[in-house]
Amino acid sequence: MTSLSKFCLHWTAGSNKPCDTDLQAYHYCIDKYGRIFAGIYEPKDNVNCYDGKYAKHCGGGNTGCIGLAVCGMAEFTESKKQTKYPLTRKQIEALCCLNAYLSIKYGIIVDEKSVFTHYEFDQRRQKKLREGKIDITYIHYLPNLSANSIGNYLRQKINWYREKIKQGKYTFTKKGDYYEFLAKV
Ligand SMILES: [Zn+2]
Repeated sequence: MTSLSKFCLHWTAGSNKPCDTDLQAYHYCIDKYGRIFAGIYEPKDNVNCYDGKYAKHCGGGNTGCIGLAVCGMAEFTESKKQTKYPLTRKQIEALCCLNAYLSIKYGIIVDEKSVFTHYEFDQRRQKKLREGKIDITYIHYLPNLSANSIGNYLRQKINWYREKIKQGKYTFTKKGDYYEFLAKV
């Protein structure tokens, strides 16, 4: 019996708010305001992927893998590094806080084997299986952070949020059709 053991972090191909395709593909999608939208499938649907009813976010690595996505990679290319929807601090912070919260909920340690960007997942595969994924290789407000250092940057931030959440400093709150983390003062 497999269980949930890892996270893959994505950047959706569309605009900076989730569309139906995004909600089908990822367990959670985060818009430019840092609002978190739950997808159609729950993380537990990815424990068994043989029934076809699961979030298909990471080809070749969906089993036991929770898919989280920040929205807005439309028109982004590695060379021009621009999109109409640049990633916001609120998006990245919400992504890391959500990942921390879920890692505690499902008892998953945060290291490079269990939390990775889709880009890192792709780079680690055999060459013939690589799909040229570029999510997440650029954070607009941190232009000097290289593609290869973004995974570590995010993991460090996720671990920081883990400690804060364990100390009760953030609460995960439902607000209408989305969720938000609120800092306790
Ligand atoms: Zn992806």
